[in-house]
Parts: sequence; C-alpha cells; structure tokens
Amino acid sequence: MDSRLERIYEEALKRNPTQPEFQQAVREVIESVEPLLLERTDYQEAAILERIIEPERQIMFRVAWQDDQNKVRVNRGYRIQFNSTLGPYKGGLRFHPSVTLSVIKFLGFEQIFKNALTGQGIGGGKGGSDFDPHGKTDNEVMRFCQAFMMELSKHIGADIDVPAGDIGVGAREIGYLFGQYKRLVHRNEAGVLTGKRVGWGGSLCRTEATGYGLVTFTKAMLGTRDDSIAGKRVLVSGAGNVAIYAIEKVQKEGGIAVSISDSSGAVYDPDGIDVELLKDIKEVRRGRVSEYAELRPNAQFRPDAKVWGIPADLALPCATQNEVDANDVREMIANGVKLIAEGANMPLTPGAIEIAQAANLLYAPGKAANAGGVATSALEMQQNASLQAWSFEAVEQKLDEIMLDIHSTCLSTAQELGVPGNYLVGANAAGFMKVADAMLEQGII
Ligand code: NDP
Repeated sequence: MDSRLERIYEEALKRNPTQPEFQQAVREVIESVEPLLLERTDYQEAAILERIIEPERQIMFRVAWQDDQNKVRVNRGYRIQFNSTLGPYKGGLRFHPSVTLSVIKFLGFEQIFKNALTGQGIGGGKGGSDFDPHGKTDNEVMRFCQAFMMELSKHIGADIDVPAGDIGVGAREIGYLFGQYKRLVHRNEAGVLTGKRVGWGGSLCRTEATGYGLVTFTKAMLGTRDDSIAGKRVLVSGAGNVAIYAIEKVQKEGGIAVSISDSSGAVYDPDGIDVELLKDIKEVRRGRVSEYAELRPNAQFRPDAKVWGIPADLALPCATQNEVDANDVREMIANGVKLIAEGANMPLTPGAIEIAQAANLLYAPGKAANAGGVATSALEMQQNASLQAWSFEAVEQKLDEIMLDIHSTCLSTAQELGVPGNYLVGANAAGFMKVADAMLEQGII
C-alpha cells in the first residue's frame, strides 16, 4: 500500500483499536481503490478518505428489559450513522450475541458504498444489539424490541435514519419495533422502518429481494462467460432470509441448491433443497437445519461442519462475516466451484478473496451482489412516501433492473481502472466515487 494511504490506515487502527472486522473492511476498500485515491488529488486535498472512514455519529445505549420470569436482563444497543451524503442513513439492525461495536461499524461502512451502488438517495448506517433471539418467547422478543426502540426512536425518522432487518431481525421484530415507535412519537410514520409486513406499509418482494437479487447478479456474472444457472449445483450457507430466497430463485432458474447451514452445522441434500419445507421450519417453526435433515430421505446433517467441501459449480455464502477462509476456497476449487457471489456481508476473509481471484474464479463482493435488499427497502420508502402499493411484479422488475445496472457499473468501472472483470475493485471504486464526488460538492462537514 502507498505510504500516504498506509499512514491513514495506521491512524484508523489507532483510533479504532480492538475492532478487527471494521479494520478488515476499511483495509479492503483502501486497497481496492488505491489507484483512484492516488490519482484524484481533489480527493486528497479534501481528506475524503479520512472523512469517509470516520462515522458521522456513533450511538451506544443500554437496553434493559424483563424476561418471562421477571428477571431483569441488560443488553447493549448500537446505531452507527456512518454517512449521510447521499440521503438519510439506511441500513439494517442485527440482533445476535456476536454483535460488537466493530461488527456494526464494518456493516455500516460497507453499507455506504452498497447504497451508493443502488443509485438511490440513501446514506449508510447500521445498528443492532448483542441480544440473542434464539430460544426467547414472542413476548420476550416484544419486550426487548420495545426497550430497544425507547432509545433508538430519538435518533431515527423517515428523513433522518431508516433501519431495516438483518440477522435476527425479520418481520416479527420490525412489527414490534414499528408498533413501539408509533406509540412513542404519536404518529404513523410508515417510512421510518423498512421490511414491514405488507398489510401495514411493507412492500411486496422485499422479503425475497436480497436472495432474488443475488441470483440475478450471479446470472449476469455467468452471462459474461456465456454460461447460465440452469443445471448447476449450488452451495448455499445459512438458512435465513437471504439463503431461503436465494435457493428459491436458483430453482426458478433451473439450478439445484444442495446445502444449507446454521450455527449448529451443515446439511447436504443431494436431491436439492425442498424450499417449502425449509420455509416451514425456519419461518414458521423457527427450528434448526438438523430438523430439515430429519424430514428428507437422503439429506445428511453434519454437526459443526461447513458446506464448502460439497462438490458443486457455484457458491453463495449467505450466513455471516468471515465464514469462508482460504482453505474453504481451495476446497471449493478442488470440488469444481467456478463462481462465488456473496449474499452475506464480508463472508470471505481477505485470504479467501486472494485465492479466489488468483484462481480466476468469478467473484462478487456483497456490496454489489446483495444490494437487492436495501434497494428494495428504498422502493418500500418510495411507496410509503407516495401512499402507493406496487404489485409484486412491478417491484421485482425494478429490483432486476437495479441489480443488472449494478453489475454493469462494476464491470465498466473495473475496465476503466485497468482491471477488467474485477468485481471487487469495480464495486468499491464505483461506490466510493459516487459518495466522494457528492462529499466534495457538499463542502467540509
Ligand atoms: P437471518 O437471521 O435470517 O439468517 C442468518 C442465518 O445465518 C441463520 O441461518 C444463522 O444461523 C446463520 N448464522 C448467523 N450467524 C452465524 C454464525 N456466527 N455462524 C454460523 N451461522 C450463522 O439473517 P439474513 O439471512 O437476513 O442475513 C444473512 C446475511 O446476509 C448477513 O450477513 C446479513 O448481513 C446479510 N444481508 C442481509 C440482508 C437482508 O435483507 N436480510 C441484506 C443484505 C445482506 P443461526 O440461526 O444458527 O444463528
């Protein structure tokens, strides 16, 4: 890395110690936009990089709530309002015991560039808590969400900051959060949260959007090599919102998704994942992937295993950050995988990305490949603002257009920067330039 950029990175390390995920995300962006940062003296003079890696606002708060035994529980809540250059802060809420300030900051940082790529007027933010929804009753989840919103409500609004779901936050949690917000502010402000149920301000196709968009992007990547998804065997990790709808869309395209996983292990189903059974287990019963394996004749559950050793053509990591390391990619390559597109945020470690790119795999970062979720959240905001409800087909068509547009932006930017076919550089540089140019126009703030 150039010495000037190295100094900026060192300063970020000093300012954000013990934040490995955030440091990893910052380093990836700096390295991949290095030629651009060195060439653009206007960015240097205006300290764009130094400003873009510093969140505009970081909010941390106590969330105290009572469980069903009336025991008082304490969690920590976060909202990082990272960058509002392009519009109100926008990004999900994650409820998972692994949540730390570092995790929320890496997610908020990535969100800036992802949101820029969608072409919609949305800034970057992220939030969440170390609350673990697993094993909690509906009433406990409701009380936690209400306590969380007591503080969060002071910082959000349809024109300020618009949270949505992420790991551990689906339509049930968004419902409880929205109900509490409405009660606190005494008005029905539909655009304050996205991922709402369709009956009260939600958008059709929002539930499907991240997974569907990921597969549309994957199809476009394969198209550059005159190939398609039809007949391909596909590895999917995770078993949540993104994984389920990626699997559904793979099947619509004629592919065969053969795996799912959760934090207890991996399932290999050689007959192809039965997506309706999976939805019933995960969305209705809130069960584990091992239960899926028990109900399918040829499926095997492998406790504590990953899915990456299973022979396949394509890989879609859809669980969590750093779930794919260099050895996993080596194993994938040995087993026939030719493409990796990230449904999760930062699922590949830096070493894994290096191996994938060195082997000339088609590789797309989450900033581009999973942007369909937030893009459709912005479509939900548009519907709320205009008091309209669009059809499923209308939203899906817009989603497809946005994903194909992001795909071509990544390719054309990579081409201009002399690294044709490099989706990582294309996505980071295109997103960065969009925000940086607007920051120049808005002055030193
Ligand atoms: P869900 O909570 O619906 O599902 C997450 C899945 O990943 C679960 O199966 C979960 O298993 C598994 N998982 C989570 N953490 C771990 C872990 N530490 N080890 C192993 N498995 C784990 O979340 P989503 O599907 O919404 O999110 C998945 C990923 O996609 C995340 O990286 C998220 O940031 C990203 N994303 C989501 C978007 C959305 O619209 N929802 C948009 C863009 C990106 P378990 O139940 O055992 O924890």
